[in-house]
Amino acid sequence: MATPQRVHLFTADTLPTSKLDASTLGSKGANLVEMTRLALPVPPGFILTTHACKAYYHEAHTLSEELRTEVLEALNALQKHTGRVLGDPVNPLLLSVRSGAPVTMPGMMDTVLNLGLNDATVRALADQAGNERFAWDCYRRFIQMYADVVIGMRADVLEQFHERIKQRENVFEDSNLEAEHLKELVELYKNTILQRAGIAFPDDPMEQLWGAIGGVFASWNNKRANEYRQLYSISADLGTAVTVQTMVFGNLGATSGTGVALTRDPSTGERRLYGEYLLNAQGEDVVAGMQIPHAISEADRVEGDPPSLETALPIVHGQLKDIVQQLESHFGDLQDIEFTIENEKLWMLQTRKGKRTAQAALRIAVEMVEESRITREEALLRIDPQQLDQLLLPRFSPESLDEARRAGRVIARGLPASPGAQVGPVVFDPATAMEYAARGNPAVMVRVETSPDDIQGMRKSAAVVTMRGGMTSHAAVVARGMGRCCVVGCRDFDVRLDEEEIHIPGHVIRKGDLLSIDGTTGEVILGRVDRMDPDLGPHFSTLMEWVDDVAKLDIRANAHTAREARLALNFGAQGIGLCRTEHMFFDPERATAVREMILASGEEERRHALKDIVRMQTGDFKAIFEVMGGLPVTMRLLDPPLHVFLPHNAAELEAVALRANVDVNTLQDRADRLREVNPMLGHRGCRLGISYPEIYEAQVQAIVNAACEVHREKGLDITPEILLPLVSAPRELELLCLIINTTAQQTMDAQGVQLDIRIGTMIELPSAVLEAGKLAKHVDFFTFGTNDLTQTVLGISRDDASRFLPLYVDMGILDDDPFVSLDPAVRHFVASGVERGRATRPDLTVGLCGVHADNPETVRFCAEAGFDFVSCSPWLVPVCRLAAAHAALEGEDE
Ligand code: PEP
Ligand code: MG
Repeated sequence: MATPQRVHLFTADTLPTSKLDASTLGSKGANLVEMTRLALPVPPGFILTTHACKAYYHEAHTLSEELRTEVLEALNALQKHTGRVLGDPVNPLLLSVRSGAPVTMPGMMDTVLNLGLNDATVRALADQAGNERFAWDCYRRFIQMYADVVIGMRADVLEQFHERIKQRENVFEDSNLEAEHLKELVELYKNTILQRAGIAFPDDPMEQLWGAIGGVFASWNNKRANEYRQLYSISADLGTAVTVQTMVFGNLGATSGTGVALTRDPSTGERRLYGEYLLNAQGEDVVAGMQIPHAISEADRVEGDPPSLETALPIVHGQLKDIVQQLESHFGDLQDIEFTIENEKLWMLQTRKGKRTAQAALRIAVEMVEESRITREEALLRIDPQQLDQLLLPRFSPESLDEARRAGRVIARGLPASPGAQVGPVVFDPATAMEYAARGNPAVMVRVETSPDDIQGMRKSAAVVTMRGGMTSHAAVVARGMGRCCVVGCRDFDVRLDEEEIHIPGHVIRKGDLLSIDGTTGEVILGRVDRMDPDLGPHFSTLMEWVDDVAKLDIRANAHTAREARLALNFGAQGIGLCRTEHMFFDPERATAVREMILASGEEERRHALKDIVRMQTGDFKAIFEVMGGLPVTMRLLDPPLHVFLPHNAAELEAVALRANVDVNTLQDRADRLREVNPMLGHRGCRLGISYPEIYEAQVQAIVNAACEVHREKGLDITPEILLPLVSAPRELELLCLIINTTAQQTMDAQGVQLDIRIGTMIELPSAVLEAGKLAKHVDFFTFGTNDLTQTVLGISRDDASRFLPLYVDMGILDDDPFVSLDPAVRHFVASGVERGRATRPDLTVGLCGVHADNPETVRFCAEAGFDFVSCSPWLVPVCRLAAAHAALEGEDE
């Protein structure tokens, strides 16, 4: 089979076939070709394809003879087109050699400009431009870049000579160095290369060209590019194209320059020409941030700054404005453009889809629909659901965060358990956290792990950080529910509660020291990082209306209090998919009542303790039903792993003793007998209801009483949904459904109100999945608890996994943390559970409520698997609604 053409010319007369796209030409190359096709001013050139890059790696980092022949043919055609010749001492062609992957990777790979210069051609360039300084400036830049990209000499080695001469001559701006200084620099550079690298700088322009092409191909594999690809999940197999293009010069004097322009403001999304430029400079000066550029538009110019492009070169500014608009209309999205002005002539060097903040993404998408440029569906698909959560919570300012990272202030990285960005003084116990909050200075509460007794402290803290625990640990689950910023599993922390110190290599952090916590990245940062408030604005509401028009999967929330329910509702939740009733007892006073119930000696004592619990819960349930105004609300009967509620210290034991009127030693004995080696797989969930039916009876009474009262008082039609946890066998359901139905009916009879009651089971154990067909006969709905299902399918403790999971992910044993992203084995179980359940009961309602629901990937999976709802953290309802809309739109496409 003949090798496909791997070098493609682009000039005003010759263009590659329109079948070639970014996957072959690289996105930069493909867009240069497209701009040439639109008859925009683009310097002509040729592109070596990504296939050429792959061949380069395949052939041990060499350029094959066949490829060289193709390059030479393209170069000849380019020379003919421009009337210039590479290396010609009178009329030299000068080239730029630039990288360009199929997916843009801004600034990650290398570029060589001004290629073709040597001691002869530099004179020709000086003569032609009538500007000696300019020609030598190009030459010294070329050597500097070539040394970096091709010879592999660190950029600062040569740059220090440049800085030294500027200091010696007492000049601040590069442009103030004279031709003589630049000649001196060229000599210094060449000598240094010879001494340090042991090679003479190549004078032969062809040798320069082969070197530069190889150097740019090689930059596909540099450390920066590899890290970027990992971060954005870009395949390492794509390869980069190389664009070889005729040079145009922005450093020819006061009517030349270079800059970057965007069609809309990338941080706010406002529609206006936005950008920066420098007179008498080359592209790298702006892009690499080596000099401080000036505003393009007069409106952005800060007083005292040099003139904007609008004032300095108004005609060019007008042309730029027109072209930029044309490009945005053509590509239908925000464009990020690089341009050069050579003696008042504008040249376009690049256009690409512009990166933008979440806020800008939202505004641009909505306004582009209003401007009839794109459809609503396109607008929805343009916003990454994951990006939306940036909008919903306060966040750190990107500049301040970058500065902290650069200064090495990131002292730990844990698991990002609950998003948000918070700054506060460190405290080590809930009481101190509450004191700080009372003084108006909410703290960052650091714990080894958290227990229910920390809840009040958590509620009052700015953020919570734990040394142990995974994404579904107690701290993580509770913090997400409250919307409290939280990082768990900071393995590098040695938290010494008694000394009130955290030890990490190189640092000791003491009580009162300031920490900044990023719950979105898991970073723990020493000192203050500046914050920005969320700003939802009208574009957000518009987008959410469009979301509801297309999404098919309902998004409910996991909410355990009326406050959380209200938050979820405000964010557009379509119900509550999980109310963990044990969370209602995290308040210390209530926890004592639960402890009394757990430590009761027999049914009578337990029924006595339950009276208070029923009273408290009736009030809680009523409040939640009222907030939700008739939308579905699922109340799950108690599922407390016993260790969470057993007394942890003498004070807690004494409180129970006082309440129950039983002596402390007796209680201690009972508590000791109840302690389990493996409480997460112990006397938990519906096993408690089977052993002590009076507990579930009491809860059902409270739920039904609350629903009847709200029905009577507010006229709301409520269908309580009662959910049973940790079910593993059909017989459990048989027994428990009987208890629920009997108690519910008795309660409704007493209230004189008849309601529909729906009963459901959690599917969170492998045995439940296998028995799903039989389980479905007893219930109206299934709710998949993927926290426990992951724990039991993979045999990985959700509370201890953080010790080894990062290693497993690093080593590629697992693709991802299975408590964040549904593991393939768990997906398999979930899909099989749905199939078995619906096989016996086709109208079975199916939902999912583990922590995985917060992940847009899970939303997509559930939409495809025919779920009715997903129940996520209240804060993340908009993220999941958008993900549900994406799933519906993508489903239609297929
Ligand atoms: C689950 O196991 O996925 C679940 C939602 O229940 P919990 O986290 O309360 O065990
Ligand atoms: Mg569970």
